[in-house]
Amino acid sequence: MKIANTNGRAVIVLGDEIADIATASGGRFGPDPMSVYVKIANSNGRAVLVLGDEIADIAEASDGRFGPDVMRIYDDWTAFVDFARGITTGTGPFVEADLGNPVPAPRQVFAIGLNYRSHAEESGMAVPAVPATFTKFPASLSGPFDDVELAGDTVDWEVELVAVIGTRADRVAEADAWSHIAGLAVGQDISDRTLQFAAGSQFSLGKSRRGYGPIGPWVVTIDEIPNPDDLALGCSVDGETVQDARTSDLIFSVPQLIAELSAVLSLLPGDVIFTGTPAGVGVTRTPARFLAPGQTLESWIECVGTIRNRCV
Ligand code: ZN
Repeated sequence: MKIANTNGRAVIVLGDEIADIATASGGRFGPDPMSVYVKIANSNGRAVLVLGDEIADIAEASDGRFGPDVMRIYDDWTAFVDFARGITTGTGPFVEADLGNPVPAPRQVFAIGLNYRSHAEESGMAVPAVPATFTKFPASLSGPFDDVELAGDTVDWEVELVAVIGTRADRVAEADAWSHIAGLAVGQDISDRTLQFAAGSQFSLGKSRRGYGPIGPWVVTIDEIPNPDDLALGCSVDGETVQDARTSDLIFSVPQLIAELSAVLSLLPGDVIFTGTPAGVGVTRTPARFLAPGQTLESWIECVGTIRNRCV
């Protein structure tokens, strides 16, 4: 099935015709193109589906089969998605401020450095032959609208596509990789550049201060995304766009990352992969620019959503 956005309305492409989804479904889905995606969120610590201006509490809607713990749904992902696609009625209102990290306790968090050609160029670094991999320690992850407490004056932004593992991936071929992914989220790999380079290169610690890994606003399943390998992404500081790119510029695409990483070790349900940031970070600018208290960092990815974090 091919879903597209025509003049701001969700449509299904049928050869040389389109079907308007809102009209065809009697208003059950659409016209907002985002309304056709399955969105799994964490609302006040409970797993929910986001359905327009409502949420459906997953434990309530499934009589306790799935949820309320958000991480539990990734353990039985295939069955969960089948269930989720049938849920169309909410159990309460959607409140943005209630949203927390939709993947709050992954067992493993992978992050990739220098994974966009544009970012490798601005950093003056050669394109790596294998993914330059580090971790963001899980305790550094935070919610999509949480404040970020800045430590020092060299804290930088890095918008990133985040992939969440749905089924265990062990020695997976690139062609099968997308089938192991539960969905996508927007992430910020916020980086303390001083700490990052304090002891040679210690990427993992420099990118793991408290709250330096906001993720959200939800995890979107990939089935409805027309081309998950080519999504616009960017971020702004106080409304000024500082990163603006497409995931088609990735050096190692999401499927290539799954193949490369799963050749080394198993990727487990609920694991998180920060796939790297495009050009436009603050540290490579002349003069260098960093985040300051009071600023708002907004980050977005096409077909996925927008997160917003105030710096304090
Ligand atoms: Zn990064």
